[in-house]
Amino acid sequence: MSDVKARTVFVPSHRKRSELDERMVEMGLRPTLQRKIVLGALLEKLDHPTADEIFLRAKRAKPNISMATVYNCLDALQKSDLVKQVNMDRSATRYCPNMHEHAHFKCEECGEVTDFDGTANPESTDITVPPGYKVRHVEMSIRGLCADCSKNSS
Ligand SMILES: [Zn+2]
Ligand SMILES: [Zn+2]
Repeated sequence: MSDVKARTVFVPSHRKRSELDERMVEMGLRPTLQRKIVLGALLEKLDHPTADEIFLRAKRAKPNISMATVYNCLDALQKSDLVKQVNMDRSATRYCPNMHEHAHFKCEECGEVTDFDGTANPESTDITVPPGYKVRHVEMSIRGLCADCSKNSS
């Protein structure tokens, strides 16, 4: 775990609509208004929202959007590698628009999930796999206390 740099990957909070368009077109996805709203809701704040939270944000942009539409959009965005699912513990699936390799740090106190640069390198992990198996991806999730919570607990 020593190769994890404690640096948050910041994504600018305000993104232009045209930038969302570009991202989608680049990934071969038709940039519909609904998809833009859902992707925009995810990029608005890099806090790994659940589908419910994305729905509430999307509703602010488009009050008549349905939960089913949000799920459909998330599905399309995932298939086009614009968004990925993050599953931590048994809590609801969260979504992350940061497609760079990164580790997730979950605060056990407030539940905040933060992106950290770096991940375990499949070639150099200590994980021993049986002969014939090949590790291709290692997903790392770290748990502990965020800066605010560790301040408050000391
Ligand atoms: Zn993430
Ligand atoms: Zn916290």
